[in-house]
Amino acid sequence: MTLKERDKKYLWHPLTQHKIHPEALPIVKAKGAILYGEDGKEYIDGIASWYTAMFGHCNDFILNKVQEQMQQLDQIVFAGFTHEPAIRLSEELIKILPDNQQKIFFSDNGSTANEIGIKMALQYHFNKGEKRNTIIAFEDGFHGDTFGAMSASGLSVYNGPFEDFFIDVKRIPTPNSENIDGVLKQLEAIIQNNKVAAFIYEPLVQGANAMHMFEAKYLDQILRMCKEYSVITIADEVMTGFGKTGSYFASDHLQEKPDIISMSKALTAGFVPMAVTSCTQDIYDAFLDDSVGKAFFHAHTYSANPIACSAALAAIELLKSEEIQNNMQRIIGSHKNFNDKIKNHPKIKTTRQKGVIYALDLNIEMDRYGKKRYKIFDHFMQKGVFLRPLGNTIYIQAPYVITQQQLDKVYDAIVELLEIV
Ligand SMILES: *Cc1c(COP(=O)(O)O)cnc(C)c1O
Repeated sequence: MTLKERDKKYLWHPLTQHKIHPEALPIVKAKGAILYGEDGKEYIDGIASWYTAMFGHCNDFILNKVQEQMQQLDQIVFAGFTHEPAIRLSEELIKILPDNQQKIFFSDNGSTANEIGIKMALQYHFNKGEKRNTIIAFEDGFHGDTFGAMSASGLSVYNGPFEDFFIDVKRIPTPNSENIDGVLKQLEAIIQNNKVAAFIYEPLVQGANAMHMFEAKYLDQILRMCKEYSVITIADEVMTGFGKTGSYFASDHLQEKPDIISMSKALTAGFVPMAVTSCTQDIYDAFLDDSVGKAFFHAHTYSANPIACSAALAAIELLKSEEIQNNMQRIIGSHKNFNDKIKNHPKIKTTRQKGVIYALDLNIEMDRYGKKRYKIFDHFMQKGVFLRPLGNTIYIQAPYVITQQQLDKVYDAIVELLEIV
């Protein structure tokens, strides 16, 4: 039996209506920007497997570091114990994070990193004797699938069965030149009429919201108002972190730095699951007390897993390297050239770019997971390119190691699509 056939017997895939889509595509190997299918075909990974494998799949440099670590120390309880990979990773993260970040808390996926950020913010106020129970978030933001993160996610079309159990979240639109005054008024009214603990946001690019982008100067105004009212700001950099926007973190483009930052996805370069929630000294200090009850009682078994730490350390070393930095500049320039060529195409409604993230909206209406969307997906796969359209949005977020020839193949597949849609 092929993998495709065996898969169907016991597996339940994420984000999948199995009745409509009973089959998954088996991948047997991946190297650099290439995925190798059981069908013998090669696919260029145009979205770095959900923005994780940014340094290429099975990157040899990371592989060696992980292998070494595996022979040294595999796993240890992180409550009461510590180890060098975690210590070094905290040091390296602090070096590249915005200046105000001082403490590193480990978990194992983007949703929990946000869950932890939200819990930190709630307990921060609680520890100071203030009960604040409202969270503010953007409309159409995405923060993950655990309850706190899901509550904060505005993209709740598929969250119907759970809505009765959400934490209290109030929403504001993402800002632009036209609505910013209104958004600020709305924000101030929410803060004045509720006990607001925190504002959680994806800085500059909303990934799941079809790569919607907005300007730093307007977000800065929102963050400034939050700070005025001691509302904790939580930057969800799960997608934008580690170079995607052209700087280490999207928050680097902003003047107002967040109190808390969550990260995951590219942190371990796709090797092993891991996440980090960083925070300021002020947040951390609010948990210091003679009573145990004020401590942060949150743990995941695999917190700061040494193997994951070693992958993250290797990934950060690569991120800072001249080679990767040069590649990023090449990709950014290449996207700009491609955009100049196609932006006026009649089948294209709008295009946008931030760093290595490039997106375009087709001039056709379609459901996020509708038939047309799958047809477009199939077109790309037939051309040997893995892109994952979000409704009528097609976006590229390729590994930093993608060659120009491979990137051109991705562009060609998009141009060919424009001919047939
Ligand atoms: C992917 C993502 C998450 C959720 O991370 P998981 O590891 O899938 O739980 C949260 N926020 C953003 C912005 C993301 O892109």
